[in-house]
Amino acid sequence: MDSYRNLKVRFAPSLTGEFHLGNLLPSWCDYLASRKYNGEFLLRIDDTDTKRDREEYLLSILSNLRYFSLHDGKDYFRQSDRLVIYHSRVESLLREGLAYRCSCRNEERNRIFRCNHQCDQRVGTSIRLDVVRTSKLIEDANLFFYDSGRKHKFNFKPEEIEDFILLKSNGFPTYHLATVVDDIEKEITLVIRGEEWLKSTPKHILLYRAFNGDLPLFIHLPILKDKNNKKLSKRLGGYSISRFLKEGILKESLLNYLYLLLIKTDKEILSIEEMINNFSLEGLHFGTPCFDLEKLLWINLQHLSHSLSEEEIFQRLVDGEFIGDKARNNREKVLLILKSIRRSFSTLFELGRNINLLFTSEVEISHKIEENKDLYEQIKNLLPRLFSSGKVTPKEIDLMIKKERKTPEEHQFLRISSIGEIHGLATRVITDSFENLARRIERILNLLQL
Ligand SMILES: [Zn+2]
Repeated sequence: MDSYRNLKVRFAPSLTGEFHLGNLLPSWCDYLASRKYNGEFLLRIDDTDTKRDREEYLLSILSNLRYFSLHDGKDYFRQSDRLVIYHSRVESLLREGLAYRCSCRNEERNRIFRCNHQCDQRVGTSIRLDVVRTSKLIEDANLFFYDSGRKHKFNFKPEEIEDFILLKSNGFPTYHLATVVDDIEKEITLVIRGEEWLKSTPKHILLYRAFNGDLPLFIHLPILKDKNNKKLSKRLGGYSISRFLKEGILKESLLNYLYLLLIKTDKEILSIEEMINNFSLEGLHFGTPCFDLEKLLWINLQHLSHSLSEEEIFQRLVDGEFIGDKARNNREKVLLILKSIRRSFSTLFELGRNINLLFTSEVEISHKIEENKDLYEQIKNLLPRLFSSGKVTPKEIDLMIKKERKTPEEHQFLRISSIGEIHGLATRVITDSFENLARRIERILNLLQL
């Protein structure tokens, strides 16, 4: 715990994609650490990739951080505003002979790149770190770094690290340079980032030494995999946070789900406060987490069933536009419906869809049945089986509605003929929701000429 005194963490997303599950995990971990250890949480935008960065992703990042209450999304700094600083840092390395200009290209793969200084070394070329010279700054012949999350010591040999580029010929810094300079200048004490940076960490350690900066602690979070053990694809967009929210997954559930990937706990459903209180950097445990949609949906169902009040669920349904105007304007009625159905559906989307059915007009339902041949045939076949005359009177329907023990066919008939669905809402909810259900069913059957 002592090593986390005066904790300062940063979340440093790039602008190469929409806010994604792989962004939410480290920013959530940064937030938990800063809350638990009374530390500081800085937001830095890594926007020096001129080819791949897109400005619209900045909005997605900031608004999501605000929505999840991880950061205010206002107080942040951008690497593209700090080019002068990176340049002056590299100039000092050049002066000390720890870096050199180099215009070598086409370095062969699988070979440690060292410039033989035969290339054109005038201004306008890229600048590389001289690994052989910088590694001499580290006295310990056994070079290593410790990952506080994995509780593992990683050894490395400088001679296996290429002379890597610090400043590209276009004047933009590489990730290695910019991240180390910023982390030193902002006095970051703990770097939490994805495991894809694990193999770059030795390079960063050499740079810290070259700049005479204090080494932070490192935690490399596991990369989320899909069921086929492949890295979650950003391009498919299937794991973008906005997509989860549109499907009606609660923010509490996403955070809870990710928390279970970080911390071993017997209690699986936790509030934000509980997660902060139970969090500990020593308690982190990583495997190779597979994204499990079923588990996420189960967590969401638990939060919908128990964590939120009906008023809160109603507000989320309104904010996410999961319910239409009619339902929105009937708050009291929707609250009553929620009381009976909130434990039955695992997303806000499904909840909203079913609530909307109870506010859909008779004409719309009759169109829906007409357009769906299966529904139409089912109800047509049910009529002569349930009603002796084959023609229904409101009185007969009323008797069926009031019947204590309905047959499966009667449940089916009531569901299809009132809301145009075979499954889903319990008949009980439907009969409670309409003032005169018998009349509604009669009108719908008339519109269908049945
Ligand atoms: Zn060269």
